[in-house]
Amino acid sequence: ILKRYVKGFVSEDDMEVVTAVAPPLAVAADSKAVVVKNLYVSCDPYMRNRMTRHEVPSYVPDFVPGEVLANFGVMRVISSGHPDFKAGDLLWGITGWEEYTLINNPESLFRINHPELPLSYYTGMPGLTAYAGFFDVSKPKKGEYVFISAASGAVGQIVGQLAKITGCYVVGSAGSDKKVNLLRTKFGFDDAFNYKKESDLEAALKRCFPVGIDIYFENVGGAMLDAVLPNMRLGGRIATCGMISQYNLEQPEGVGNLFYIVAKRLRMEGFMVFDYYDRYCKFEKEMAGYLKEGKVTYIEDIAEGLDAAPAALIKLYTGHNVGKQLVAVTRE
Ligand code: NDP
Repeated sequence: ILKRYVKGFVSEDDMEVVTAVAPPLAVAADSKAVVVKNLYVSCDPYMRNRMTRHEVPSYVPDFVPGEVLANFGVMRVISSGHPDFKAGDLLWGITGWEEYTLINNPESLFRINHPELPLSYYTGMPGLTAYAGFFDVSKPKKGEYVFISAASGAVGQIVGQLAKITGCYVVGSAGSDKKVNLLRTKFGFDDAFNYKKESDLEAALKRCFPVGIDIYFENVGGAMLDAVLPNMRLGGRIATCGMISQYNLEQPEGVGNLFYIVAKRLRMEGFMVFDYYDRYCKFEKEMAGYLKEGKVTYIEDIAEGLDAAPAALIKLYTGHNVGKQLVAVTRE
C-alpha cells in the first residue's frame, strides 16, 4: 500500500507491505466480476506520478494512502461470475499489488493468446509502447538515424530492436557499462554510450551521429533532451514517451535548447500507450513471431514476492534495474 503522498525522491518507506483479508475467492454466478490470483505485477516509472497528490487531476488518478497500489499484471482467474471468463483463464491488465484481486470490470483485461511464451512477457505495456511510439509516432524510414535514451530498459530495448528490423542506424544511451554492453551485444545496437561517463552529452551525440539524428525516442528528458535538440537533423521527429529524469523532482529542470524545434522544423509529439490499444492485436501477433524467430530478445529483472516490490519499484529511478522490472507475486 502507499503509506503517504510522496514528496521528492520516492523511498521504500513511502510504501508498506501489510497483511489483509483477501476478497472471497468465489464470486456470485451473476456478478459479472472475476477473482484473480496475481502472478506477476509490473513496476513502471509512471507510478511515481500517481504517488503525488495533484491539485489539478493528472492523466491517471492519484493513488490513495492506505489503499493497495494498482498497476498492470499477469493473472489467473480463480472464479468468475462473467459469462466470457472461466477459472483458469490467463489474462493481463490492471490489477492490485496483492495476491488476490476482485475485478469488477474484467472486460478491461486482455487475454494471453501466446501462453507458449514466458507469461512474464505479458507484464505491462512497454512492448506496445515501443511499437506504437516507434511506428505510429516516429514514422521511421529505412536508413534513418535513431537515438534512444534509457535504451536498455523495458521500452528502450524493444524500440532499438524494432529500429534495427526496420533497417535504421541505432544508438542508445544507458547509465552503466553493463547496460551499454547489453545494447551492443544482446540487442544489436550499432553503437551505445554510458551517459554518466560523458562530460559533454552534446559532444557525445555528435560523435555518434556526425550527420545528425532523424528520430529521437525520448525516455528521460532534462539534460539529455537539451543535448539532443542541436543534434537533430532538419525535419527530425522526437517521440516523447517519457521524462524519467523529472519524475522525482519538485521543480522540473529547464530545457534551454527548445528553439531548435523551430529552427530545425522538428516534430516533437507526446503519446500515451492507452491511445494505441487498437494496435494491440497486430502488435501481439508480430511480436510473438519476432520472439519465436529470435529476431527480438527481451531482458527482465524479476523481484521475488510482494515483500520485494517497494525496493523493485525504486530501482527504476536509481537505474539499478537491468531490463523490464517486474515482481513475481507467486510462481505457483
Ligand atoms: P526502464 O526499464 O527504462 O527503467 C527506467 C530507467 O530510466 C532506469 O533503469 C534508468 O536507466 C533510467 N533513469 C532513471 N532515472 C534517470 C535519470 N534521472 N536520468 C536519466 N535516466 C534515468 O523504464 P521503462 O522502459 O518502463 O520506461 C521508460 C520511459 O518510458 C519512462 O520515461 C516511462 O515513463 C515511459 N513510458 C511511457 C509510456 C507512455 O505511454 N507514454 C508507457 C510506458 C513507459 P539508466 O541506467 O540507463 O539511466
